[in-house]
Amino acid sequence: MRDHFDVVIAGAGPAGAQCARDLAARGYEVVVLETESEDDFPRQSNKSTGGTFPSMLASFGIPDDVVMHFTDSVVIESPNEHYTQHRTGAVLEFADFKRFLVRDGKERGVEYRFDSRVSKPIVEDGEVAGVRYAGSEEVYADMVVDATGPAAPLAKELGVSDLERGNQAIGVEYEFEGVSLDEPEYADLTDAMMLRLDHQYAPGGYSWIFHTGADTAKVGVCFIQNESYRQYADEERTVDGYLEHWIDTDPRFADAERIAGKQHRGSAHIQPPGGRLSTDGFVAIGDTVPTIDPLWGEGIHVGMRSARAAAVTADHCLTPDEPETDAENVSLYDDLWHRDVAPNMDSRLLLTRLLYLAPNDRYDRLLRDLNRLDEDTLYRVNSGDKLAIARVLHLDDLPLLVEFARQRLGI
Ligand SMILES: Cc1cc2nc3c(=O)[nH]c(=O)nc-3n(C[C@H](O)[C@H](O)[C@H](O)COP(=O)(O)OP(=O)(O)OC[C@H]3O[C@@H](n4cnc5c(N)ncnc54)[C@H](O)[C@@H]3O)c2cc1C
Repeated sequence: MRDHFDVVIAGAGPAGAQCARDLAARGYEVVVLETESEDDFPRQSNKSTGGTFPSMLASFGIPDDVVMHFTDSVVIESPNEHYTQHRTGAVLEFADFKRFLVRDGKERGVEYRFDSRVSKPIVEDGEVAGVRYAGSEEVYADMVVDATGPAAPLAKELGVSDLERGNQAIGVEYEFEGVSLDEPEYADLTDAMMLRLDHQYAPGGYSWIFHTGADTAKVGVCFIQNESYRQYADEERTVDGYLEHWIDTDPRFADAERIAGKQHRGSAHIQPPGGRLSTDGFVAIGDTVPTIDPLWGEGIHVGMRSARAAAVTADHCLTPDEPETDAENVSLYDDLWHRDVAPNMDSRLLLTRLLYLAPNDRYDRLLRDLNRLDEDTLYRVNSGDKLAIARVLHLDDLPLLVEFARQRLGI
C-alpha cells in the first residue's frame, strides 16, 4: 500500500500551514512535510518581522496572543521628511504565529512530519503524483503544493516558478531595547511601523523600525543587489554592515542594546510570477511564486490568501468522484491568484523599481507630496493605479524615467 493523502504540502510557513488548515476544515486528508525539527521549530525559518494588519488576523482566525504589539500608525521616512498614516497594525511574534498555525492544523486533523526535507516531485503519466523527502522517503497525493518559500524545490523542477537570483532581496533584523521612539526632529514612532527610504542605510531598498512595546523595537534593513545598489552601495559593506552603520549613526539607537537571541534574516524574490503558477496535480503558493508585495515586502497576508486560493482549487479538483487534477482544471488557481490574491502586481512592480531607483532628495520630495495628497489618491497610488502614480511624478523626474526606461529595455 502506498502512503497516500488527498494533498501533500511541502513547507510549514504561513502559506503551507494555512493551506493545510483550510483543507482540513473541508475534511481532506493532508500531510505537511517540514524540513526543520519539531523541538525548536521555527529556527532558521523564524525570519520575519511579522508586521501585518487586523484584516489578516480576522480573515484567518489568528488569536491576539501571537501579537507582540498592536500599532496605530504607519510611518514612511526619507532622510529629511516623514509621512504618517493612521492605520491599525499588528507586529506578530513570528515564531508563536507559526507554532499556532501548526497546532491549530493538527487539531483539525492535519498530519505534520518534521525533519522531512522535500527534494523532488514524483511524476507519473505526466502528472505530479507525490514527492520524495527525507532522503528516500516517498509520499503520494492527488494534489501537491509547494510552500517552501524561496527554496522552491518542486516548483523549480516542474518549471512552474522562475525565481531569478538577481531579483532576490535579502533582509536582516535585530530586536533592541532602549530605543528612543520619540526623538526630537524625527517622527514619533510610538505604536508605529516605520519604513525608511534612504540609500545611506539601505541602498536600493528600505530599512525599518517596528515598535514592539515599551522601549523595544524590531530594526532591520533589506535590499536587492539592483542598479541602485550598485550606484549607491559601498560594495564592501554587507547587509549586516548596513544595519550596524544605521545603528551607529542614528541618534534613536544611542542607548539601544540588542536583545540576545533575537535576530531574524531571510530573503524573498521581488519579481513577477514566472509564467504558470500550477500544472497537472500541482500548485505553488506563498513566496515560492513569489506572492510578496514588491513595494513594502508584506508577504504574510498575501501568502495566506494564495494558500486559500490553492485550497479552493484543490476542493474544486477533488470534489468529483474521481479527482480531476489535469493542468486545465488546476489553472483555476492561476485565475484566482491574478484576480484576488495579487491584482495589479505588474504596475506595483514598476512602481517599486522606479521608487528604489530614485535618489535620496527625490524621496524627500515624494514624502512632501504624500503629505499634501488626499487619502483616496494615496490608496490608488499604493494599489498601482497608473493615473494616480502620474500625480506624484514631476517634470524634472524625466531623467529618472529615462534611466528607468533604459534599464527596462536593457539599452
Ligand atoms: C527579514 C524579513 C522581514 C519580513 N518582514 C515581513 C513583515 O513585516 N510583514 C510581512 O507580511 N512579511 C514580511 N516578510 C515576508 C514574509 O516573512 C514571507 O513573505 C512569508 O514568510 C512567506 O511565507 P511562505 O509560507 O510562503 O514561506 P516561508 O515563510 O519561507 O516558509 C517556508 C517553510 O518551508 C520550509 N522549507 C523550506 N525548504 C523546504 C524543503 N525543501 N522541504 C520542506 N520544507 C521546507 C521552511 O523551513 C519554512 O518553514 C519578511 C521577510 C523577511 C526575510
